[in-house]
Amino acid sequence: MTAFDHPEFDGHEQVLFCHDGAAGLRAIVAVHDTTLGPAVGGCRMHPYATTAEALADVLRLSRGMTFKNAVAGLPLGGGKAVIVGDPAAPGKDVLLRAFGRHVQALGGRYWTSIDVGVHPHDADVIAEECAYVIGRAAQYPGGENPSHMTSLGGLAGIRAAVAHTMLRDDLRGVRVAVQGLGNTGRELCRLLHDEGADLVVADIDDQAVRDVVHSFGAGAVPPDLIHEQDVDVFAPCALGGVLNDDTIPQLKARIVCGLANNQLRHPHHGAVLREAGITYVPDYVVNAGGMIGVAALVNGSPDRPAERRRVLALHNTVLTVLRRADTENRPTSEIADAMARERIAHSRSTW
Ligand code: NAD
Repeated sequence: MTAFDHPEFDGHEQVLFCHDGAAGLRAIVAVHDTTLGPAVGGCRMHPYATTAEALADVLRLSRGMTFKNAVAGLPLGGGKAVIVGDPAAPGKDVLLRAFGRHVQALGGRYWTSIDVGVHPHDADVIAEECAYVIGRAAQYPGGENPSHMTSLGGLAGIRAAVAHTMLRDDLRGVRVAVQGLGNTGRELCRLLHDEGADLVVADIDDQAVRDVVHSFGAGAVPPDLIHEQDVDVFAPCALGGVLNDDTIPQLKARIVCGLANNQLRHPHHGAVLREAGITYVPDYVVNAGGMIGVAALVNGSPDRPAERRRVLALHNTVLTVLRRADTENRPTSEIADAMARERIAHSRSTW
């Protein structure tokens, strides 16, 4: 199968297979759509078993970035990269520099960033060879956590979904089950706790659970029971694929709104959630907060208060998705995809 026939191809503008024999680099850069601006998306490093697996991952992730940036109203397109390799193996810096040279050669059509296996100090290494890198440790002085903006968007999304579904404009006493207490989940717990929400949490890392129980008075349950808690909101903040044929019938929450990417195992699970009467806030709509900060870095004009206002305005975007889904009686996931495609088509038509 070639990239053109691939089921995830979706009209990608460019798919670049990057090789550097001396460095041992094998990487793929996927530029999905640059209608709205330069393609931006992180670089994932993973020991993919086959090239086909790496290609499927990068195409799916790259398209997701186009949609996320479009719905968030950002002047950015969608792209992504994968490096085939074990991020814990020696020689990572050599691979990162070789990767940086390939990204540099694209001249700014694609900006890379951090993702699974590529962290801010790795982005600093890529930047030795490449000007088009964000998420560098050096860009967050004082150890500021770029995930804060993502979590703030999560709070805005939960507020909007609660207003829409429960007809409430505050979160006092609203029960939220948070799955995953890493960068985004822990910060979301802090923000929800400040708003008076009641938390129940789970993580496979016991220390992370103890911390959130102690800091925010959360209840704790085993990881395999978190999705079936009797709560108002289920907030997946760990893995993809958590909304599937097994878990959806067990959900008691009326709302699903969390920060994990690719929560639906298959696209049709958006319709399954709607049939079950559950308000699903599409993942890439609500987790765009981090990209809003990134857009400011790409455009060279970081303005934290303005970024914060923009992240909180995801509230309105979420409400638009939920209301339109009701009006058209369609899954929220389909509505979000339609909104992204409409924005791109509109931009093309005004060229
Ligand atoms: P992270 O690695 O910091 O945290 C993930 C947490 O989930 C870890 O504490 C891990 O122990 C836990 N976990 C793993 N398996 C679990 C399970 N089965 N049950 C419960 N907990 C489990 O990652 P993160 O940065 O918080 O990202 C979480 C999700 O959000 C990912 O899907 C990521 O792609 C997405 N996301 C993150 C950002 C961001 O700004 N960090 C932005 C957009 C989307």
